[in-house]
Amino acid sequence: MTEKRYLMTPGPTPVPPAVLDAMGQPIVHHRGPDFVAVLERCLRRVKEVFRTESEVLLFTASGTGGMESVLSNLCSPGDRVLVVSAGYFGERWAKLASAYDLEVDEVRYEWGATPSADDLAARLDELGGVSAVFLTQSETSTGVVADIQALAAVAKERSALVAVDAVSSLGAIPCETDSWELDVVVAGSQKALMTPPGLALVSVSDAAWAAQKRSTFPRFYFDWERSRAAQEKLDVAFTPAVPVVIGLDVALGLLLDEGLETVFERHRRLGRACREGVKAMGLELFSPDEDRSAVVTAIRAPEGIDSGELVLTLRDRFGITLAGGQGPLKGKIFRIGHIGYYDIFDITTALAGVELALTEAGADIERGAAVSRALDAYEARAPV
Ligand code: PMP
Repeated sequence: MTEKRYLMTPGPTPVPPAVLDAMGQPIVHHRGPDFVAVLERCLRRVKEVFRTESEVLLFTASGTGGMESVLSNLCSPGDRVLVVSAGYFGERWAKLASAYDLEVDEVRYEWGATPSADDLAARLDELGGVSAVFLTQSETSTGVVADIQALAAVAKERSALVAVDAVSSLGAIPCETDSWELDVVVAGSQKALMTPPGLALVSVSDAAWAAQKRSTFPRFYFDWERSRAAQEKLDVAFTPAVPVVIGLDVALGLLLDEGLETVFERHRRLGRACREGVKAMGLELFSPDEDRSAVVTAIRAPEGIDSGELVLTLRDRFGITLAGGQGPLKGKIFRIGHIGYYDIFDITTALAGVELALTEAGADIERGAAVSRALDAYEARAPV
């Protein structure tokens, strides 16, 4: 039998059969009526999932492309900006801002820390104002989910624009673009949106549009205005990844049919089940043991075991792909992603694989405890 594969990373994530099926149909032309109907529905659904009345721009790019568009449209040369970073992707905002030669200040934490609104407020007061604050909702490298609502509130109180990287979180946990007054939110197709890689989605508030009008950075492909003008006419500025848009439309329909609140609750329960299973094996969590941490569970490798080796064993022996640690956490942690098309049996599969691989590597783990505890935690519907 061909080896069965289990993709349990925080992106790309598994894609539901209905989405794959839609993407497997003959290609349509991106300026013909077939595609226009899809685009119209897709843009409408995207706004619902972003919980915004504002335009959400679709770019054929990875999430980072969407992030880069924020720098070149929201900012102008010499702007002073503030980045809150506590891991790999927070640092990406800082690198992007530096690449644009902005004056970059940071509220920088150790990887794994949870950013605090008080720290952000204090730094903003100390700096006496910045044009924009850059935040990461789910720091995929550590499993920490920041309280974006609280962080955005202190930035808005101090008249800064707020840009949020929600690449790994949008569609898995609440991200209330309008009611939390988030000026820009960036997402990617390949995470909780259950679609293959290829699309970046960027919501733009009225205040962000005003900043865009003032911005003097050169830009072309990622010019927000060019994309907005096209989308307004149910057109696209450039040839999009047609099958990915078609897939995204179906995936968003699945999410909205399930109901966003139900989707969020499913993710909370999956996160809980994963953490409880991990603890039942006697392993130590790296990501916080709290309900908000529902995107990716980061786990410390036991003493004497390299997490990278563990990830390779799981992939090569059992066909289970987990993620290792990045940057300073390389070799030290491994990560189980559970965003998008996952149910409890995906979690128990991952846990069973980890248990087997660690046991073979000499760890003393009670057989079956993780799976059993995860099932209980999932059913309990509240922390056990
Ligand atoms: N931000 C976060 C939080 C992410 O998880 C990722 C992808 N892992 C990115 C940004 C970058 O997205 P991409 O790889 O699609 O450019």
